Amino acid sequence: MSLACGTRKAAQSVAPGTARSPRQLLAAPAAASTSSAAAPAAPQFDAAPPDAGQSLAGDAAAALPGEHWRDDLRSDESCRDYRTDYALSVYTDPHGPNRKYGYDGYGYREVEVSREIDGILRKHCVRVYHPRDGKNAQKRRVHVAEHIGPAWYRLIERTLSRIPWRHLQQVQAVVIDDRPLLHGVAPFNRQEPSKDARDGHTIWLHERLFEGMNHWASGNYGKYWAYQVQLDGVKVEGQAADHELFSPVLLHEIGHLVNYNVLNGSASDPTCPPCAQMCGDRKDCGKLDAAAREAPCATAYCTGFGHESGTENWAEMYRWYYQGSATRDLLARSFPACSAVFEGNGSSPGINDGLAAPWDRGLGQSEGYHRTLWSSCQEKPCKDR
Ligand SMILES: [Zn+2]
Repeated sequence: MSLACGTRKAAQSVAPGTARSPRQLLAAPAAASTSSAAAPAAPQFDAAPPDAGQSLAGDAAAALPGEHWRDDLRSDESCRDYRTDYALSVYTDPHGPNRKYGYDGYGYREVEVSREIDGILRKHCVRVYHPRDGKNAQKRRVHVAEHIGPAWYRLIERTLSRIPWRHLQQVQAVVIDDRPLLHGVAPFNRQEPSKDARDGHTIWLHERLFEGMNHWASGNYGKYWAYQVQLDGVKVEGQAADHELFSPVLLHEIGHLVNYNVLNGSASDPTCPPCAQMCGDRKDCGKLDAAAREAPCATAYCTGFGHESGTENWAEMYRWYYQGSATRDLLARSFPACSAVFEGNGSSPGINDGLAAPWDRGLGQSEGYHRTLWSSCQEKPCKDR
């Protein structure tokens, strides 16, 4: 779920980086990356030029299939990962306790996501905040502090492991405080850091994501299956600390941050990619009947409530791409232009950055998918999606 999406401004395709030579990689100090950073900082590399042999090695590495390290990526030196340090830290907001969406006084732990890229282990730390007592910053009753446990952090870690590093590093913080009405919200940067905590790099979640099971939910154009985890009839709470669950709903939220930061190149630009546009983006809703307005929807949850833009449509497609092979194939069949955003075409390399599918890296997948019950046909699964 997100908040708004207008007409898209200039689309920015992000050029692929060149892999660094091994010596440069080893010499590169890890860029400082804290959860309070508003925008990713460019990593600093050793200024010494590599010799020809090392340069060739870098070029050769870049030519191999798979994800490669590049200039716009960064790695944290170390994380205070919840698996080795479960002490709850207390966050003091430098802007004080009254920011919109603020989380001053909440507790937090860190989740480390790591993987080897071009022969070096890379790390990314995400802070996960929650109220320490029974009330969130809006003084509403919440139960997170009583229920949160290692299985919750594990769900976040397993989900973040599915996506390219360039996407992963857009996610700086997760706040579990029941502020979203549904499962989650991933707002764009409001550019008022002293008054508003929404920075385009933070996701707010509802505790029901961890405590409930997959279920039907009402969207704008019918009912869709809310995939809290990849398996039906299972919930995160009560799982062992090393469970294998991931959250397609969280993938959807990450899809919003990727929309702003990777596709648009700005945490404060919420416009959606042309391939996912709805009539609100094209400004022709008034000319279309209900079925025609519904036609570009990936699922029944394809526009924000009160908006007719395709922000949610894109986030659903993002979920499809990283959830499982059945929905990745469905994306290629149903929305080839959006599939090409991930996989590239003749002129663009695609935002998946060559990363192998999660299910080919031992991270599991959703088997098949539940088709939407579409309003246009009396809430029946009348389409192949
Ligand atoms: Zn959304």
